[in-house]
Amino acid sequence: MYLKRLESVGFKSFAERINVDFVPGVTAVVGPNGSGKSNITDALRWVLGEQSAKSLRGSKMEDIIFQGSDTRKPLNVAEVTLVLDNTDQTLPLDYEEVSVMRRVYRSGDSEFYINKQSCRLKDIVDLFMDSGLGREAFSIISQGKVEEILSSKAEERRTIFEEAAGVLKYKQRKKKAEYK
Ligand code: ATP
Ligand code: MG
Repeated sequence: MYLKRLESVGFKSFAERINVDFVPGVTAVVGPNGSGKSNITDALRWVLGEQSAKSLRGSKMEDIIFQGSDTRKPLNVAEVTLVLDNTDQTLPLDYEEVSVMRRVYRSGDSEFYINKQSCRLKDIVDLFMDSGLGREAFSIISQGKVEEILSSKAEERRTIFEEAAGVLKYKQRKKKAEYK
């Protein structure tokens, strides 16, 4: 599985639609401070189900919607689409290409789609859990995360290893079953 494309409109500084194409191997995003490099990884984490505004470097979810500039009016909706190559069937879906889309309105309403079919946030989180690319996964390591991993408590570190080993899904299902 690999990321093929990230498309966004209205997400943070991206008022215009952006299309970022990735190829297998290394892709580097370069640009001056404040030009939106980290906003690309924020968009990636958001579409994968990130629910914490703080971890997206805002104070409320609305902060991810383009808030206007000197020359442009604020937008009312933000949307991010991620397209993945799934020819190796890492994701348990019988498609060679999988797209996930998330949209949020200023009113707070959200929409989620897998391969253009409306779904719940939970379906997206479940789809990526144990794929190595979930919102809590080890594949996206932000500034400061390395230190956090090294200094975290043993139990917290264990969660990272559990996600990497693919057992987190079963633990969460077990917990849910116990509370029913
Ligand atoms: P650095 O090199 O310093 O890490 P960067 O390229 O990673 O910079 P980002 O943090 O991705 O930069 O982008 C920050 C920019 O995004 C700021 O200019 C900020 O004003 C803008 N921004 C963030 N949220 C919004 C929003 N909701 N609407 C418009 N612009 C936004
Ligand atoms: Mg940055």
